Amino acid sequence: MADTKYIFVTGGVVSSLGKGIIAASLGKLLQARGYKVTIQKFDPYINIDPGTLNPYEHGECYVTVDGHEADLDLGHYERFLNIQTTKDNNITTGRIYQNVIEKERRGDYLGKTVQVIPHITDEIKRNIKSFGVKNKFDFVITEIGGTVGDIESTPFLEAVRQLRWELGKNCFCIHLTYVPYIAAAGEVKTKPTQHSVKELQTLGIQPDMLVLRTEKKLSKEILDKVALFCNVELDAVIQSIDVSTIYEVPVMIQKQGMDEVLLRKMNMPIGEKPNLEDWNAFLQKRKEAKKNVIIKLVGKYVELPDAYKSINEALLQSAIYHDRHLVLEMCHSEKITGENVAEILKDADGIVIAPGFGQRGIDGKFAALKYARENDIPTLGICLGMQCMVIEFARNVLGLTDANSSEMDPKAKDLVIDLMEKQKHITNMGATMRLGAYDCVLKKGSLANKAYGKTKIQERHRHRYEFNNNYKEQFEAAGMKCTGINPETDLVEVVEIPQLRWFLGAQFHPEYNSTVVSPNPLFMSFMDAAAKAP
Ligand code: GLN
Repeated sequence: MADTKYIFVTGGVVSSLGKGIIAASLGKLLQARGYKVTIQKFDPYINIDPGTLNPYEHGECYVTVDGHEADLDLGHYERFLNIQTTKDNNITTGRIYQNVIEKERRGDYLGKTVQVIPHITDEIKRNIKSFGVKNKFDFVITEIGGTVGDIESTPFLEAVRQLRWELGKNCFCIHLTYVPYIAAAGEVKTKPTQHSVKELQTLGIQPDMLVLRTEKKLSKEILDKVALFCNVELDAVIQSIDVSTIYEVPVMIQKQGMDEVLLRKMNMPIGEKPNLEDWNAFLQKRKEAKKNVIIKLVGKYVELPDAYKSINEALLQSAIYHDRHLVLEMCHSEKITGENVAEILKDADGIVIAPGFGQRGIDGKFAALKYARENDIPTLGICLGMQCMVIEFARNVLGLTDANSSEMDPKAKDLVIDLMEKQKHITNMGATMRLGAYDCVLKKGSLANKAYGKTKIQERHRHRYEFNNNYKEQFEAAGMKCTGINPETDLVEVVEIPQLRWFLGAQFHPEYNSTVVSPNPLFMSFMDAAAKAP
């Protein structure tokens, strides 16, 4: 087998230009040409992982099958490439330093002064190279978080410089920049891009390709200018114009030959035109969807578009497969009360009760759930959303008026949601939840079983609290059934009310496992019910 090739994606000028989407789109195109591809993200912050960051800081925390709390870009990688990522796909400065410090304590560097160069940069390089070799990937695309010029990302860029030198033709650097349009002058400006490339050059990295993020289509003249000033060949200056959905990006960059240019420059066979049949069929369905489906997402981070990223994407995918245009309305759980809930939710075809932590906004979730249950609106509760479903049912159907989760009120009389036994002695907050994929057995004939079309499934988790099995009989007798159980621990993973049209709570997060070509079955089933809503 040929050597693994390494592609680096850096960003300049400003953050949030969509490096993750460009990396995922390029990965998609290479994969569609038959190559084995993965994408890795380096985050320059000191946290060991984003698991301890709240969504205001860092958007959604994504969870991999092997239980790693990861950057949300890994969600894009999975959704685009239909692959499963792991702990190796996301590494922070904190983890690099932790590894180096552990080695130092073990005595691996005895006699040496431990320094950023070579010890930190070597550890970064090891995490890039060993990943590619271990898994026999044809391409490892590595996205470097942050913006060129940040103090924090400098060791990563130094590692890239060294790898470029060591790997020669097996290394390729893509730099993503911004070309602003100045309305008053009626012109697009390339100067920030020139400066950004210069900044990169001062670190010893000459980009092989530039991706220019722009709101307006750039003329040949502008592209020529950028090529000339940045020492990049014209065919390697790609423009990334705003498109109506991120899923159009692979098609847009493919039209400009981005994948072909890269393969040619890396001396790799170009082969057949990428097979994007499934992908294009999905985009076509999106364009043709005429009818709306209104989904209301009840959560406390409504002002942050990235906080529920995977849920939004899973809803969008399943809506498109049901020939529906998704109208997703975010409903602030702190603002929902018994008085205004009907007004807020009355036109919903389906309701999603979001995951989360802590007391804030919880009463709004209960009010929404009571309304949804009493009015038989298709409802999906995810993680905390499922736990709220259980508590609301306990209070209003079982008459356990003081029912709660020990997360909200450890002194409540009926702790229908309680801390897992394994969690009781935990003192460290980082990476200690019940994380990653676990088996779940679904009851034959249940809604969940029908949705998945099988009885044994695996879904990903991120929680400390669980359904209290002491109450199971009481719930089942009153009509809320426990239809998904972990076979080893007996933990309840799914509850549902079969008397209602579609009312189900999952302790796991189905949204982490939903891709463009393989949408999650639970979301598909939920959307089916929502699309049929009268
Ligand atoms: N806070 C709840 C728990 O830890 C739910 C977590 C979640 O929604 N991800 O069990």
